[in-house]
Amino acid sequence: MIKFFLKTYGCQANEADSAAISIYLTGLNCKEVYSETEADLIIVNTCAIREKAEEKFFSYLGMLNKKIKVNKPYLKTIVIGCIATYKKDEIYKRFDNVNFVFGAKEDLNNLKVVLSDFIVELESIKNIYHSENSKRDTGFLNLGGFKTAPKELKRSLINIMTGCNNYCSYCIVPFTKGREKSFSAFQILQKIEQDIKAGAKEVTLLGQNVNSYKDPESGTGFFELLESVAKIEGEFWVRFLSPHPKDMTKEVLQVMARYPEKLCAYVHHPLQSGSNKILQAMNRTYTVEQFLEQIDWMKTILPEITITTDIIVAFPGETNQNFEQTMRVIEAVRFDGIFPFIYSARKYTKALSLKDNCSKDEKIKRINELIKKQQDITFEQNSLKMGKVLRVLVEKRMANGRLLARTQGNIRVFLDGDDSLIGSFVHVKVEKTRRSDLLGVLV
Ligand code: SF4
Repeated sequence: MIKFFLKTYGCQANEADSAAISIYLTGLNCKEVYSETEADLIIVNTCAIREKAEEKFFSYLGMLNKKIKVNKPYLKTIVIGCIATYKKDEIYKRFDNVNFVFGAKEDLNNLKVVLSDFIVELESIKNIYHSENSKRDTGFLNLGGFKTAPKELKRSLINIMTGCNNYCSYCIVPFTKGREKSFSAFQILQKIEQDIKAGAKEVTLLGQNVNSYKDPESGTGFFELLESVAKIEGEFWVRFLSPHPKDMTKEVLQVMARYPEKLCAYVHHPLQSGSNKILQAMNRTYTVEQFLEQIDWMKTILPEITITTDIIVAFPGETNQNFEQTMRVIEAVRFDGIFPFIYSARKYTKALSLKDNCSKDEKIKRINELIKKQQDITFEQNSLKMGKVLRVLVEKRMANGRLLARTQGNIRVFLDGDDSLIGSFVHVKVEKTRRSDLLGVLV
């Protein structure tokens, strides 16, 4: 039997693509393994959104070449995803252990053909190799850091669309994934129903800009899709990632309010900057005032809502004053969490030609200030949950022996209990609140 290992970088959309590949290969009678050393086929799903992710990927390929391939000459490696789209030649040139590079814009049917060809080839090569080398094959290096899949909550990650038409001036995604394309609502709903029947308790609808979704057959939009998902029978939660403020409507929030048992009262709403000048330079096409109005809708329609955001610090042209404007929005909104990034220039993007006006020290100072402010706010927001009874979904057992669960708002809660609770909804009373999580007891 051919064993495959999937290494996934980047967002949950990539996780969803990897999950689809896993299903396809399992259907070809292959087995997924959770360590590179056990695999005959390694598929690396890449992310180009930040320079750091790209560096990590290249050093990972180097490691595969030096430590894995050397012990398993027949090993096949496939690179897919965003970096594969625009660095195909470089990958082939630098890494002779890579057998196939498949870009994010290419026809998926080609990937399927290559995968099935590789499986046939591997089956015969593996047999020959093992019969000739049975005496001198001493086993593979055991690399640290790779773990076996634990017993975990079953999740359904569903790409409802791919690509993006927005061309934010700092973002490489429209160049790597191509134009926006929504998938059929009928097929999406069918897949979710299957996953729920197979035991999934959490469904995440994914896309670069989920709220611009449009069913290619009927033309219906995101809030209608959300409502159809909520009507599927079963006990499960639904999340979505990420909406774009330019397409946020009250209808989405109203549907969420109508199905509180299914649709999580959680929105990740990417602000990026609290300065209208910087938002314009980023080509975000909304203003801070419009964003704040949407936050008001959220808090009015869904009083228990959890809101998180993304902030880019030191975008070219950002002055101290612009940064202070961002800090003021952070204080006014009181997000439950933020994902802060220092701007990094990416190839092909419009912002690449803009002058970087900020020293490294200043960038670090700004991001640290932002992180510190948000940590205090998150702690205060979490403290409001002290003594409350919350419904949570149990995910897995952690190394510290406790169970990890999450609230609808994606806030981590640790509790004691046995493994049978994994994958169940339970109620916990919050007994301690901390900066990044809560401690609770079962009620
Ligand atoms: S909305 Fe902007 S940031 Fe998000 S994927 Fe599209 S271009 Fe990139």
